Amino acid sequence: MTVNAPTKDQLKQWDEEDPLNWTRAEFEIPDARKCGGKVDGETVYFCGNSLGLLNKRARQHMMEELDVWSTSAVTGHFKHPHGRPWKTLADPMLPVIAKLLGAKESECAHSSTLTTNMHTLLTTWYAPTPKRWKIVIERGAFPSDWYAAQSHPGLHRNVLSDEQIENAILAVEPREGEELLRTVDILKVIEDNKDEIALVWLPMVQYYTGQVLDIAPMVKKTHEAGALFGLDMAHGIGNIKMHLDDWGVDFAVWCTYKYLNSGPGGTGGFFIREGLSDNGRRLAGWWGVNPKTRFDMTEEFDPTPGAQGYMQSNTGVLGSIPLLATLELIDKVNFDNLRAKGDRLTGALDALLKQSKYYIPADKLPKEEDDTKIGFHIITPELPNRGSQLSLFIHPAKKGIMPRVFEKMVDRGLVGDERFPYVIRLAPMALYNTFQDVGRAAEIVEEALAEVEAEGLGK
Ligand SMILES: *Cc1c(COP(=O)(O)O)cnc(C)c1O
Repeated sequence: MTVNAPTKDQLKQWDEEDPLNWTRAEFEIPDARKCGGKVDGETVYFCGNSLGLLNKRARQHMMEELDVWSTSAVTGHFKHPHGRPWKTLADPMLPVIAKLLGAKESECAHSSTLTTNMHTLLTTWYAPTPKRWKIVIERGAFPSDWYAAQSHPGLHRNVLSDEQIENAILAVEPREGEELLRTVDILKVIEDNKDEIALVWLPMVQYYTGQVLDIAPMVKKTHEAGALFGLDMAHGIGNIKMHLDDWGVDFAVWCTYKYLNSGPGGTGGFFIREGLSDNGRRLAGWWGVNPKTRFDMTEEFDPTPGAQGYMQSNTGVLGSIPLLATLELIDKVNFDNLRAKGDRLTGALDALLKQSKYYIPADKLPKEEDDTKIGFHIITPELPNRGSQLSLFIHPAKKGIMPRVFEKMVDRGLVGDERFPYVIRLAPMALYNTFQDVGRAAEIVEEALAEVEAEGLGK
């Protein structure tokens, strides 16, 4: 599908007519020089998929929490001048989160961080037997997921042999010469190993390529095999709409500092499908106790029904409060509108980039030995298999020029992110990026490549 690239005037007009154009003013846009650039003014910030921006209301909430801590200290847990008692801080967040996930509120918990939550869930639901012990995961997984998945079989030396532990990971990957995962290939791996698989662990959105996976058929296949399906939604939540209940996902984790702007290291969360039995393997903590009896401090563990019964520690207020402002904003504008704008922004970026003289179409990709000319191709798939991210693969790959191109972008105030060895990710955020940001970003990509070309590609 070719979309006509918009002109500068069109981009300006789209911003003026955009019913969501007011949300940008809710955010603090970083300064280009402070981000390492050589120009004055605001950045074109296309890195909200790595760390979302500070919401002005989040700053206000944060100052208020510091004041409550200062003036009211421990009593802030129960009585709060702004109506946000710390012991129930997550309560107003969960309905919005549940809606984003297509889940019930009782299936969601706001707690801890992504990797730690993944370990908690795997400790409970990865219970291998000598007959069923394998974990399906993608080879290009975000390293934390890969390390976490790799580490679990070794915790079961009482049931698994050394050889089984060694061979527990079944890595799915794109076909030779391809960049994206194919649903049929994943289904085949599950089918071919159906008696030995205990768990399938996949991402909602692949972080490097921006590919949105087709989850429903994979869950179905996993369940037919008699295994459980876990989902990493780090790049899904707040980006694309999910339907965890309809898809039948067993459990899932997310972080909130990417598309949901909770601040560096902000509190994440997890989902557990209603009715999923833990077979008595729960990692318990006092925050999993029913709120009605939690502060009775008895020996008896009386869990909250659903996912919240698996929480362990009390809510980190300072790491959680910034999330509230973005969730309130999303609730106000309606996520479907946000997603539609995200698609328009990403579509405009895609169309503009494809107009570049440095753009290499998929059917013209050089063979490795012929890869000598500077340029880029886009590895992210078309709609519906993408959200708000485009991954640019920089050529010539063997010259390793991606970091040089990236630096020239930062010089000009475009903050994306570099993913070694070859990729630059650009993620326009519907909450705070504009169509004119998209126009400027496409110009900067062109200028950066031209500058590196003029300097020479090196040996
Ligand atoms: C961002 C991200 C993480 C980060 O994990 P933390 O525990 O929050 O540090 C893990 N997995 C994926 C897929 C991610 O995108």
